[in-house]
Amino acid sequence: MINPLIILKQTPKTFKEQEQILPLKIFLQKVFKHLSLKFKMVKVDKEKCIGCGLCVSISPDAFEMGEDGKAKVISQKDSPEVKEAVESCPGEAITL
Ligand code: SF4
Repeated sequence: MINPLIILKQTPKTFKEQEQILPLKIFLQKVFKHLSLKFKMVKVDKEKCIGCGLCVSISPDAFEMGEDGKAKVISQKDSPEVKEAVESCPGEAITL
C-alpha cells in the first residue's frame, strides 16, 4: 500500500516523475485539506500556554493539565465548551 504522506513529501527529480507525482500530490493535498476541515483537530500550543487552567475548568472532558504545567488535549470533542475554551484562552494557545 502506498503511504500518501511519503508522496506528499516527495520532490520529483525528473520531468516524467513530475508528470506522475504532481497530479497525485495535488489530489492528496485536496483530500487532506477537506479532511482537516471536516474533522477539526483541537490542539494546544505548549509554547503559548501559560498554564492558567481555564480551559480545564471550562471543558474538563477535553482538556487536562499535564505534568509540565501546560494544558493538553484528552478528547477530540467538538462541543460548545471546547469552542468557549478556545475563545477564552488568554494565551491564544488553543486552536481548532
Ligand atoms: S486556557 Fe490556554 S493558557 Fe490556560 S491552560 Fe488552557 S491552553 Fe493554557
